[in-house]
Amino acid sequence: MSTPATERDPRRGALVARLGRFLPPDALVTDPVGLRAFETDGLTMHRRLPMVVALPGSRDEVSQILRVCADLEVPVVPRGAGTGLSGGALPLEDGVSLGLSRMNRILEVDVANRCVVAQPGVPNLAISEAVAGYGLYYAPDPSSQIACSIGGNVAENSGGVHCLKYGLTTNNLLGVEIVLMSGEVVRLGGKHADAGHYDLLGLVTGSEGLLGVITEVTVRVLPRPETARALLLGFPSNEAAGACVAAVIAAGIVPAGMEMMDRLAVRAAEAHCHPGYPEDSQALLIVEVDGPEVEVDALVERITALARGEGATSVRASTSEAERQRFWKGRKAAFPAVGRLSPDYYCMDGTIPRGRLPEVLAKIGEMSESCGLAVANVFHAGDGNLHPLILYDASDPEQIERAEAFGADILRLCVQVGGVLTGEHGVGVEKRDLMPEMFSETDLRVQQRLKCAFDPEGRMNPGKVFPTLHRCVEEGRTHVHAGEVRFPDLPRF
Ligand SMILES: Cc1cc2nc3c(=O)[nH]c(=O)nc-3n(C[C@H](O)[C@H](O)[C@H](O)COP(=O)(O)OP(=O)(O)OC[C@H]3O[C@@H](n4cnc5c(N)ncnc54)[C@H](O)[C@@H]3O)c2cc1C
Repeated sequence: MSTPATERDPRRGALVARLGRFLPPDALVTDPVGLRAFETDGLTMHRRLPMVVALPGSRDEVSQILRVCADLEVPVVPRGAGTGLSGGALPLEDGVSLGLSRMNRILEVDVANRCVVAQPGVPNLAISEAVAGYGLYYAPDPSSQIACSIGGNVAENSGGVHCLKYGLTTNNLLGVEIVLMSGEVVRLGGKHADAGHYDLLGLVTGSEGLLGVITEVTVRVLPRPETARALLLGFPSNEAAGACVAAVIAAGIVPAGMEMMDRLAVRAAEAHCHPGYPEDSQALLIVEVDGPEVEVDALVERITALARGEGATSVRASTSEAERQRFWKGRKAAFPAVGRLSPDYYCMDGTIPRGRLPEVLAKIGEMSESCGLAVANVFHAGDGNLHPLILYDASDPEQIERAEAFGADILRLCVQVGGVLTGEHGVGVEKRDLMPEMFSETDLRVQQRLKCAFDPEGRMNPGKVFPTLHRCVEEGRTHVHAGEVRFPDLPRF
C-alpha cells in the first residue's frame, strides 16, 4: 500500500515531535482515521486530509503552534466548527488544521457593559443562553447557530434571520484577540464602542482565517424586545413576494427579519416538521416585527395591507409566542428539509439590491430549467441575500460539474445586477476564482497587501479567497505588530 500524501511530507516528523512537546497526546491528531473527521467543512464537494490536526486548549498553545509552524514553514488552516459553506476551513495536505473547538469557555458576562467575552470555540447560541437570565441576547443568529463557533462567525462576518434590523457580526463585535503567524498576540478593540486609528477590527471581521487565529471575542448583547410577532404571507409567485419585500422596505419599515421560501422549499419544510405553511402558495414570506406592543401591532397592520396590495393570497399573524416559534420552525429547518428532496444540495450565497429580487428570481428559474437541475430558494429577502439551493447527486461527477457551473452563473448574475459575490458565507475556495468578476487586478493586489501586513510569508490559510497569491515582497513591506501597524512604503497602483 502506498504512503498517504499527508505522511510523505519530510517536515511531518519534526512537526509532530515539536508539537508533541507541549500539546497533550489527545490534542494532536495524526492517524488517517482521525484526520478523516477534518477533511471537509459544509462545502462537502471539496475534501482533503490535513497533514496534522492540532487542537489547542489556550491562547498560549495557539501561539506556540504557530511559532513551530512558522519555523518549519508549514501553512496553517484555522478551523472552528467546520460548518462553513465556502470551503474556508478546507485542509491543506502539507498543512496543519488548527481546530479551536476546545477553547469553548465563556470568559465573562459583563451585564453593566452589556457585553460577553468568549473563547473562539463557543457556539453562537451559547452566548444568548449565557445571558438569557438577564433578559439579554446576542442578535446575529445564523441558522447553524447551535453548532457554529463565534470565532468562525467573526472570520466569516456571519449573518442570520435577524440581521436585517440588528446587523451582521461586524455590527455586534467590540473586540478580538488574534495570534499572528509569528506567534505574536494582538488585541483589537475591547469593551468600548469605538477604537481610534485604523479600523483593524473591521479588517479582521470577515478575513476568513487569512490574517491570524482569533483566540478571544468580545460581543455586544442586547435587551430582548418587549414583543415580537411574525407574519406568514403566501403569494402566487416569487415575483409577487419579491415585490412585497421591496414595498415593505420602501415604506420605511425595518422588520426584525424578512425571509422568503419558494414552493419547493415550503413543501420540503412542511413535510419535514409541519410548521403549518400555506402549501398552495408559490412563495412564502415570513416577516417578523419587534418592539413595544402598540408599535408591533401597528406594523403588523401596515405590512398586512402592503402584502394584500402585492397580491398576497394568504396572510396570518402570530398571536402567541408558541405560534411565532412555529412559523420560524420550518424556516430554521429549511436546509435539512431540502435534503429530503435530493441526495445533495449546493447552497449559493450572493447578495443583490432588493429592488432586483423579482427579476433575478425569474432568471434563476429560467437557468434552472435550461441546466436541468432544480433549485429551492430559502433566503434573507430583506437583505437581498439569496441562498438558491441547487439540487444534485454527488455520486454523478457530471452533475457536480453542472451544479458548480450553474452556481457560478448565479453569482455572476448577482454581480451583473449590482450585487456582490457573497452575503455571509465568505469566498473560501468556492468563489475564489470568481473574484475577478467583481474586483480589478489592482483591487485584489491592494487587498493582498493587507494580508501581507499580517502574514508576510503567506502561511495563514493560503489558497483561499485570492485567485492568485503574489509573494509579499512584490507587494511592498508592511507589518502589523502588537498595538501598532506600520505602512512605511505604500506603492502606487
Ligand atoms: C445548515 C447551515 C446553515 C447555515 N446558516 C447560516 C446563516 O444563516 N448565516 C451565515 O452567515 N452562515 C450560515 N452558515 C454557514 C456557517 O455556519 C457560518 O459561516 C459560520 O460562521 C462558520 O462557523 P464555523 O465555526 O463552523 O467556522 P469554520 O467552518 O470552521 O470556518 C470558517 C472560516 O473561518 C475561519 N476560522 C474559523 N475559526 C477561526 C478562528 N478562531 N480564527 C481565525 N479564523 C477562523 C476558517 O479558517 C474558515 O475560513 C450555515 C451553515 C450550515 C451548515
